Amino acid sequence: MIDLHSHTCFSDGSLSPSELLALAQESNIEQLAITDHDSIDGLQDIDSLTRNLRLRVIAGVEISANWGKQGLHILGLNIDPQHQALQSFLKQQQVSRKTRALQIADKLVQAGVKDASNDIGYLLDCQPMVCRTHIAQLLVEQGYVKNFQEAFKKYLAKGGKAYVADDWFELEDVIAIIKAANGQALLAHPMRYGMGTNKLKSLVEEFKALGGDGLEICYPNINPGHKNLLASWTKAYKLCGSQGSDFHNPDRTWVKLGKFAPLPEDVEPVWTRW
Ligand code: AMP
Ligand code: MN
Ligand code: MN
Ligand code: MN
Repeated sequence: MIDLHSHTCFSDGSLSPSELLALAQESNIEQLAITDHDSIDGLQDIDSLTRNLRLRVIAGVEISANWGKQGLHILGLNIDPQHQALQSFLKQQQVSRKTRALQIADKLVQAGVKDASNDIGYLLDCQPMVCRTHIAQLLVEQGYVKNFQEAFKKYLAKGGKAYVADDWFELEDVIAIIKAANGQALLAHPMRYGMGTNKLKSLVEEFKALGGDGLEICYPNINPGHKNLLASWTKAYKLCGSQGSDFHNPDRTWVKLGKFAPLPEDVEPVWTRW
C-alpha cells in the first residue's frame, strides 16, 4: 500500500497533515507522499507527527508548470523540504497563485458573482492558499452553480467566464528545481490534460530530455488502455512509474487513499530510487 499523491489543507485538501496521517495509518498505507499544490508548508512538523506511526512519509509537492500554453502538474517526490532554492521557488509560485485568485475574483464580479472580491479576499486572508477548488466551493455554496463540475465548466476552466490562463514557471525550470532538491520529477495524471496521444507522446519525450524521472501511471479512474500506453512509454524512454490517489477530501468517497490499480510489474517503481 503505497500512495504517492495526496493533499492537505496547506493547498486544497480538507484535512490537516496530522488528520491525513491518521487516516493513512487507519487505511494501512505503508508509504504516503504528501504533495500539496506549490507548497511544502504542510511538511514542516512531519518528523514529530510521524514519530509514533508505522507509515513512512515521503516529502513531496505538486508543482504547477507551463509547457507552452499548456498547464501541467509535476510531482516532486522524496525532495529535501529544507532546500532553500526550492522554498523560494515555491514562495514565488504562491505569489502567482494569489495574483491569479485576485484576477479570477475580478472576472467573477464582471460575470455577476457580486461578492466574489470580498469572499476571495477573505479566503486569501485566512487560509494558506486559495486554489480554484476553493472558489468552486464558494460558487456551489452561493447557488451560482449546482456542483463542482459546473463551477469549472461555467467559470473556472478554459472557456469559462472567469478563466485566467496558466502563468507558471516553465516545465524546464520546474524539473530543474525538483532535481536540485534531490527529488524525482514525475508527470502527474498524464491523461487528465485532454491532450491527444501524439501531443502527449512529444511531451513525454521532452520531459525525459529535460531530466524528468517518470510518469504517474496508476490513479483512480484511469482506463486500462491508457495505463498500458503510459507503461509502454516508461519502458521506451527509460522512465519510472508512480501511483497515487490524489486524495483531497474524505467526502469525495470515490477517491480513497491507496485505492487504484497496481503498477504493472514490468514498470520500474519510483520508490526503488529512494
Ligand atoms: P488550481 O491548482 O488552483 O488551478 O486548482 C486545480 C485543482 O482544481 C485540481 O487539482 C483539481 O483538484 C481541481 N480541478 C481542476 N479542474 C477541475 C474540473 N474540471 N472539475 C473539478 N475539479 C477540477
Ligand atoms: Mn487539487
Ligand atoms: Mn493535479
Ligand atoms: Mn493533486
